[in-house]
Amino acid sequence: MPQPTDKSRKIVARAQHVMPGGVSSPVRAFKAVGGIPRIMASGNGAYMTDVDGNRYLDFGASWGPLLLGHSDPDVVNAVTTQAQRGLTFGTTTEPECELAEHVTKLLPHIEKVRFVSSGTEAVMSAIRLARGFTGRNLIAKFEGCYHGHLDYLLVSAGSGLATFGNPSSAGVPEAVTTQTVLLPLDDESALKQLFDDHAHDLAAVCIEGIPANNGLLIQRPEYMKLLRELCDQHGVLLILDEVITGFRIGVTGAACHYDIIPDLACYGKVIGGGMPVGAFGGKAKIMDQLSPDGPVYQAGTLSGNPVTMAAGRATLQKLSDGTTIERANSMTADFVNTLRTQLKDLPISIVTVGSIFWIVFQTPPPRRADHIDSKGTEHYATLHASLLEKGIYFPPSAYEVCFVSAAHEPDMLSQAAETVAECARNALE
Ligand SMILES: *Cc1c(COP(=O)(O)O)cnc(C)c1O
Repeated sequence: MPQPTDKSRKIVARAQHVMPGGVSSPVRAFKAVGGIPRIMASGNGAYMTDVDGNRYLDFGASWGPLLLGHSDPDVVNAVTTQAQRGLTFGTTTEPECELAEHVTKLLPHIEKVRFVSSGTEAVMSAIRLARGFTGRNLIAKFEGCYHGHLDYLLVSAGSGLATFGNPSSAGVPEAVTTQTVLLPLDDESALKQLFDDHAHDLAAVCIEGIPANNGLLIQRPEYMKLLRELCDQHGVLLILDEVITGFRIGVTGAACHYDIIPDLACYGKVIGGGMPVGAFGGKAKIMDQLSPDGPVYQAGTLSGNPVTMAAGRATLQKLSDGTTIERANSMTADFVNTLRTQLKDLPISIVTVGSIFWIVFQTPPPRRADHIDSKGTEHYATLHASLLEKGIYFPPSAYEVCFVSAAHEPDMLSQAAETVAECARNALE
């Protein structure tokens, strides 16, 4: 019997009247996969339940933050305790100072940190700081990396190895994107050309710790090392966007995974424990350029919000010894191994790092955006719909990655692996 979706349908229809697309963020509308967006009502551990009472094993993790699963009791307790004391004061608070102490203690490359309210804001502020610090304007980003919805990073490629971007969204003036150079991932010659052409004007190169917003495009360590070396040689700052990877693929994120020290790094998602958050940090001599100590302006009414900080502090306390992340990572490895065994003769790859995985309908797996075969999106839509019917929630786009949380259990995952394998096989037919 098909799932009941009456209540979800009704809320979607109401929302469409009063909210563009019925959503506050576009992919939630299910346009990439079709079907009825499920309106979630509650979550507990590895599961969430929609308004019609259907329960799903969740691999979406609210796009990444929920490494501890839904409604982790310690995080909820931290949030409610702080909420009773006060929601916001517009002053520095002790939870905020403690979260900053946690971050700087866990991450040797972060000497000072500033909190903001979203990952977008973190990247935007880090780039302003990099420009202020270096006195240069150009920034470089990679095709297939997402850094939030700031104007000058919403660019798509022209032709050639390292080119100025064109706006990829209406409403972004071309003038704004003339300061952004775009290059493909996984391409040493494009990197070298970037530095040959632009080194003296380049303030920063911004890259995702491990690109995970356009599929999971795992980069070669030697490539990341070359990027670090070239930045060092030319006085260009390396901004590592760890909004997904920070505190997710290991306590120390992609920086330690690749053993490269970024000049500035951006955080979000996991560091807020499910509350709206962003943070950026790095070497003190750079961070001290921020206002009020330095000339680079940056501010926020609800930045460092105490409820968010309490959630983040409780989350990092649970993650700091590494065992929880290790547990999620090893369950993910087992899950992915089962899937790979079951799907080994088919044109399907499962890419994974830490507790992140991505199923893509092609072999070998791509390492750069323009190597992703768009035909796979149809297979993914079929897979997505059949998994929903079977009570498994995958993100509603072929280009979004899946997450395992520490609240998943091995038996849930081994059962899910059977179901996912069967549905993936069927999706090819
Ligand atoms: C999610 C994400 C962002 C944007 O964060 P928001 O909180 O959605 O603004 C930026 N960079 C990366 C790598 C992300 O995954």
